Amino acid sequence: MEIINIYAIVFGSILLSLAFIKALYYVSPWKNVLAIFISKHLTYPYIIHRHHFCGPWTRASVFLHLCYYASNLTCLLFAVSSVSDIARRAGVLSLINMVFLFVAPSLSFLADILGISLQMCRRIHRSTAWISIFLLAIHIFGILIAEKNTLSFQDAPNLHALIAGSAAATIVLLCFPIFRRLAYECFLKFHEALAALYLYAVWRHLPPNQLLALYCVYACVGAFTSTLCLQIATFVYRNGLFMSKGYPRAYIRCGIIPANADKTKDVENAVIVRVALPRPMKLDAGQYINLWMPTVGIFSWAQTHPFMVISWSTETQSSLDLFIKPRKGLSAALYERALKAPEGSVSFATFITGLHGISQPIDQYQTVLLLVNGPGIAAALSYVRKLIRGYNTSFSRTRRIHLVWELKTLGLAAAAEEFLDSLLEEDTFADGYIFTTSIYVESGKVFEVGNHNRGSVYQGHPDYDEIIRAEVLGDFPNSKTNSKAEHERMTVADGFIDSEKNGKGQGWKMLVMVSLPGKQRDRVQSIVREYLQDGVAMTELEFQPD
Ligand SMILES: Cc1cc2nc3c(=O)[nH]c(=O)nc-3n(C[C@H](O)[C@H](O)[C@H](O)COP(=O)(O)OP(=O)(O)OC[C@H]3O[C@@H](n4cnc5c(N)ncnc54)[C@H](O)[C@@H]3O)c2cc1C
Repeated sequence: MEIINIYAIVFGSILLSLAFIKALYYVSPWKNVLAIFISKHLTYPYIIHRHHFCGPWTRASVFLHLCYYASNLTCLLFAVSSVSDIARRAGVLSLINMVFLFVAPSLSFLADILGISLQMCRRIHRSTAWISIFLLAIHIFGILIAEKNTLSFQDAPNLHALIAGSAAATIVLLCFPIFRRLAYECFLKFHEALAALYLYAVWRHLPPNQLLALYCVYACVGAFTSTLCLQIATFVYRNGLFMSKGYPRAYIRCGIIPANADKTKDVENAVIVRVALPRPMKLDAGQYINLWMPTVGIFSWAQTHPFMVISWSTETQSSLDLFIKPRKGLSAALYERALKAPEGSVSFATFITGLHGISQPIDQYQTVLLLVNGPGIAAALSYVRKLIRGYNTSFSRTRRIHLVWELKTLGLAAAAEEFLDSLLEEDTFADGYIFTTSIYVESGKVFEVGNHNRGSVYQGHPDYDEIIRAEVLGDFPNSKTNSKAEHERMTVADGFIDSEKNGKGQGWKMLVMVSLPGKQRDRVQSIVREYLQDGVAMTELEFQPD
């Protein structure tokens, strides 16, 4: 690309950014109306619902994808002279898009750099990868058509093109969900190895006169190396690697299943991990760490796993608590080791990366409804603690926190009882009792969790329609003190609500935070869409159980 073209692009971008900032200033008085309009018509409704291989796609995501594809196709086809010209452009465009895929060694780290959630970062990664592959396919077919008589795989560049193409095809094949579910860690390592092979083969394939394409490869390597160094530096700092205090250590035990639980059923349990840190750290609610425990099993040195931090404090923390549901891999190994430990607890040398994840702004909502399923509770606990602390110290507007937790059996709830109890104990300031729980259990014996009498346990599935409607109307008779009248008294006194408008007056806002399997999440999103004008919004927590 000529230097004048680069100048024109940079100059044009600056002018456009200035115009955009000015436009934002003009629309700011209508930002609430605009936000509701965009949510109601673009970001909440789905065009394509969730299916096994694709979706869900909202109107906004379809629109953005179309724009993305259209801009790439314009660059590909504008004033094109021949098939080989299309093929050459497709190759370069594919590499330009691919730079994003190599920017950081882990998506968690990249999401932190960009200030977006891990889910969002995964979506962008996926979309960029698909368009790169699409353009690569055009490049390959274009070259096959244009050079069908002269193409020979004896030449080193063409041989490397074949290797790159095969690596890309294998990456696509491995992306089928079955491989991820079968052995996630193997999938991840293969994916990374194939990506590295692809980049190397592309570099060897490119002729020296393809400067822009070569710059893209160098940009991938440069960006990757820089972020890797940054990540290593953070890793060394967080784990206190050159400190005299030693490394982090994880103390692992199983949750306590009470005697009145139904032992005949397949009662779920949890692994409770406390990571003692050599260097205390300050974290925000809703953040997670990646745990590397090299000595737990034969292959555990090659794995890192993300887990939400359930502890939260305004101060720096010298230990982090995690709540883990055992699956089949490392989490199951931890459970087995803790179960067999003679003292009921076992410890391992551990390293962490992070803190990762963005913390949602929650203080301005009068009601916060947390809808979680199974291990999704781990994503909610730190927020609940922060909200209660905010109420106790008059730093937050929240006057009601309702945790709705759906479970297969009550085992997980029993394992989490100590954490729920400690939250309920903290929630007694000025007889506020702002925190209430509703636990729905699919099967097994229903028994009382804790002895605080501040929540309900039901058999069956939660009716999210009814739960959200009740919260909007302030109609929650089961709550200890937060009856509708009390709720309105508190919020009217704080000047957030107009009781005559049945709890939906100016300024009242409710946030629905979800950590649910995909189908339930979609359902809640469509329910919340109906209440957007009433001040209800929804947000997805960093961890969504499947
Ligand atoms: C941001 C985030 C926070 C999480 N927080 C928690 C939590 O607090 N408590 C909890 O119980 N679970 C949490 N999880 C899920 C947890 O990380 C995985 O279930 C765990 O890694 C399983 O380990 P395993 O070897 O036993 O899994 P396996 O039995 O081998 O696999 C079970 C499933 O876990 C997922 N998984 C496995 N390894 C990883 C990995 N390295 N990264 C992402 N997903 C993986 C895959 O979907 C896989 O299908 C979180 C996941 C994410 C993405």
